[in-house]
Amino acid sequence: MIIANWKMNGSKELIKEWIDFVSHNIEFNQAKECILCPPTCYLDYTGTLIKQSYNNVKLGSQHCDSALSAPLTGGINSQMLEDAGCEFVIIGHSEQRIHLKESNQILSDKLKSSIEMNLNPIFCVGESLQQKEANQTNDILAQQLDTLPSNLLHECIIAYEPVWAIGTGKNADISYIEEIHTFIKEKLKNKSDSTNYISVVYGGSVNLVNCKEIYSSDKVDGLLIGGASLDSDTFTKIYNIS
Ligand code: PEP
Repeated sequence: MIIANWKMNGSKELIKEWIDFVSHNIEFNQAKECILCPPTCYLDYTGTLIKQSYNNVKLGSQHCDSALSAPLTGGINSQMLEDAGCEFVIIGHSEQRIHLKESNQILSDKLKSSIEMNLNPIFCVGESLQQKEANQTNDILAQQLDTLPSNLLHECIIAYEPVWAIGTGKNADISYIEEIHTFIKEKLKNKSDSTNYISVVYGGSVNLVNCKEIYSSDKVDGLLIGGASLDSDTFTKIYNIS
């Protein structure tokens, strides 16, 4: 799967142009899902476009609150996301962990509530530069993965996103990615009560130059792309050569 995370970027016009271009130019392969995560305010618009004519693109949300019902100004729940046509939701992105101070309990509740609404959570994990330099990467990842309820684990997609690689232009090199993905997959195997395959995707400064090498590793099941996903032509090329 190739996931476009638009963060706080875009407009209706850009979404329409992107989805039209991508949908007509990707060499679509059922086994390689193409997922667009626009800002929350455009989910309904994007969901309607996809439903009308672009069925090779799937919709994901960048945000979801944990409760189905709470007096929460600005809140959006998994039921609303499902109603808007979402099939995926990003949970635990480092930008939200840091800025919204999301606790493990909140993340676990978000995971449960999104799975209840048949959404596929894309659960992000990753270490900061400071943690990497202090040789704490595996401990940090293990703690983050422990947030996942073991009976729901096989419903999740894991995104390994080293915080130091996000938006910096410095992607992790392939041997490091393979080492970490192997660790994550091993940890999930021990934790899960199901033998179902759990996908682990990589995110962090993926671009046209590095995408092929990263995606072609048998330890990598997909790419989560921020900055390089905004341009429809670049994203299409990344999809097609990966
Ligand atoms: C992201 O936001 O999840 C991300 C990976 O961003 P970028 O590709 O810009 O590093």
